[in-house]
This record gives sequence, structure tokens and C-alpha cells, in this order.
Amino acid sequence: MAAIIPVKDRNPFDPRFIFDGVEATSEEERTTHDASCHCGEIKYKVTLKWPFPKYTVNTCSCSICTSTGYIAVYPCRRDVNFIQGYEKLGRYRFGTKTKDHVFCKTCGTSIGIDFLRAEQGESDPAKDTFSINVRTFKDIDLDSLEYTFFDGKKLL
Ligand SMILES: [Zn+2]
Repeated sequence: MAAIIPVKDRNPFDPRFIFDGVEATSEEERTTHDASCHCGEIKYKVTLKWPFPKYTVNTCSCSICTSTGYIAVYPCRRDVNFIQGYEKLGRYRFGTKTKDHVFCKTCGTSIGIDFLRAEQGESDPAKDTFSINVRTFKDIDLDSLEYTFFDGKKLL
């Protein structure tokens, strides 16, 4: 079982948590992963600021993360490149209805969260982020990752 690091005080939906250090990394450390939904209609590549397990993956106990099975990384939008099927993304909003939970309309795979920051007035591309479900990455050993845990059930 992989290590789990508690991050009780860091809300993963808080921009200050998500963007910490994003631009401070070298190009050499960045890694790109192939990802897709289960049926393969939606394919994309995700570039992260540094490799696993240095890049920790976030888990959360809130209702949506529990239902979708999200285990999350938070790349910039410009680092999430859809190769095919972007138009096949289903979108679900609840609560404040300010972000889209995106999934494959055909197979139902939970892909992640589009925070829609540009729509909310964010003009800095470095702060326009996605949350991507690492379960959609190809050839990844989930037990080799380092995880953080946010108790969203209590704190959100
Ligand atoms: Zn699919």
C-alpha cells in the first residue's frame, strides 16, 4: 500500500494549494502521461510539473470524490491536451455550480474537474487549472504513488 500523507489544513480546491510551485519547476522535471476513458473515445495527454511519486496525488473524503473515485492531480489547462473526444465530455454541476465534473458520456469514466477559472475572471494561464483523475492514466501503478488526504467531508 502506498504512503498517505495527511493534509488536513490544505483544501485541494483552494487555488493557493493547487498553484503552489507550479511555475517554479524546471522543464526537465516535467513528465507527460497518456490518459483515456475506459472505452477510449476520449484521449488526452497530461503534463505534470514533476514526476511521480514526487508529485503527490490527492484523495478526498467529500461526496463527489467518494462517488467518482477521484484521485487527483492539478495540472494547468494548457498542460491537459485532448487528442480526441473533447466534445464527448459529459458535465455535471452541483452545490455552488461553479465547476464542471467531467466524465465520458459513453462509458461513464470519471475524468476530473474543470474549474472554469477563466470564466470566473482568472486571466493568468498558470492559475487556470484542471483536476485530472489519475485512474485514467495509462500504465500507472497506483500503489507506487504518494497520496495526500484531504478530509473534505468535514472541511468543505
Ligand atoms: Zn469512454
